[in-house]
Amino acid sequence: MDILLASGNRHKHQELSHILKPHRVLLPQDLKLDFHCEETCKTYMDNALLKAQTLHEISGLPVLADDSGLSVPALGGAPGIYSARYGQEELGRSLSSTEQNDFLLKNMSAMEDRQAFFVCAMALFWEPYRFITAQEILKGEIASSPSGAGGFGYDPVFYLPEYKCCLAEISTEEKNEISHRGKAARVISSFLD
Ligand code: IMP
Repeated sequence: MDILLASGNRHKHQELSHILKPHRVLLPQDLKLDFHCEETCKTYMDNALLKAQTLHEISGLPVLADDSGLSVPALGGAPGIYSARYGQEELGRSLSSTEQNDFLLKNMSAMEDRQAFFVCAMALFWEPYRFITAQEILKGEIASSPSGAGGFGYDPVFYLPEYKCCLAEISTEEKNEISHRGKAARVISSFLD
């Protein structure tokens, strides 16, 4: 089955194509579709469904969409659903991932509780009122400084106690095994099987 991914993110495409084999995961740009959707909802799952439905309306194809982010209980759950835009409001401009990580570390400097978790909500949408969903998490801690060059986003500051290193320091395969997105995608994949 061909599944259209509601994202332009190559990292996600690679991760999800591997997990959903033998199904073929396409990107909107592969079909010359111009897709952009503001994440205006208040939950990860509603944002995932909004993206899936919007792309389905444009394409008519089965669509896979996810919304993910980092939640830090000591910061009241921030950056949460605003993970991609973290720091923008406070600093009046959008920040690079490196700047967002520095901003997060600064906000965490006085915090003893370093617990954090990634969340991924995922929806596979066939047509209005016909879809399946999965939501998964990856637990860890906010490191005291960034390390590693792999992955993307908050990976360099997300410490995995069991691995004794940050998410940006493990291989893509290892990340797929344990990540919020990998786990949610395997739930969807097992349904497809
Ligand atoms: P999206 O809206 O699902 O694309 O993700 C929102 C933001 O959450 C991204 O821009 C990243 O900053 C962050 N994020 C989501 N998943 C990950 C991950 O696996 N590693 C690091 N950061 C992530």
